[in-house]
Amino acid sequence: MLDWLFGNRKKLQSQRITEIEELQLDSSIWQARFLSASARHALIRWIRVFVAEKKWEGCNGLQVDVAMQWAVAASAGLMVTAYPDWFFGKTSSILIYPTPYIAKAGPQYSSLSGGIPSVMGEFARAGETIYRGPVLVNWQDLQYAKESANSGNHLAIHEFAHQLDLINSPFADGLPPLPANIDEKRWKDGMQREFQAARSMVADGYRVFINDYGLTKESEFFAVASELYFQTPRALAEYHPNVFELLLQFYQQDLRQLLPS
Ligand SMILES: [Zn+2]
Repeated sequence: MLDWLFGNRKKLQSQRITEIEELQLDSSIWQARFLSASARHALIRWIRVFVAEKKWEGCNGLQVDVAMQWAVAASAGLMVTAYPDWFFGKTSSILIYPTPYIAKAGPQYSSLSGGIPSVMGEFARAGETIYRGPVLVNWQDLQYAKESANSGNHLAIHEFAHQLDLINSPFADGLPPLPANIDEKRWKDGMQREFQAARSMVADGYRVFINDYGLTKESEFFAVASELYFQTPRALAEYHPNVFELLLQFYQQDLRQLLPS
């Protein structure tokens, strides 16, 4: 089984990169045009595997096409550039809605996921992440995010940050699986301190760069900060330097030199 899987991956990744794939990458994430040629090619090879291995499902009549698959895959792949063997193995399928959807069930269970507990149901149901289950996103928000840094929001990056958070436990706690050279306690304490500091600032009437949703709990703090890390790295480093440094230790790619914001 594993031989077959790795053989398939190798085959997919060894094929020559086409002009069409280059163009597809450019229209999938705005960050692509700032990446080096070798980083772009590595990302394209990663995307091929991700697209092939996930089950894709359009909801509410949406037909999933290559542009949608690539918009999701390129975002997820950008996040794990430092971990080229990670393909979000616990994420079996991707469900794409045309617009932010209305869930029929309450916040804990989604009828859409077959009654599997929904670990992360986002406000207004822009998207959702389910432990060992599907990731739910909507094409309207994805299109908005793939064009530019905009407000710093990026739905796919947000949901896949939750997926990273869930690799090492069924409970999202804002702690992704850290490389062995990082002191886990120091990292976690650091993030907690920043989370509490940002909340205190807001309680005292100040505004902070990480939005209110990111201040609701530690897992959302990690997900929202991750969006900013890939969308507006310079601004995140300026307003929350400690958060930026901690995320840099995990993501291991510094986009400040590459991206304009
Ligand atoms: Zn979230």
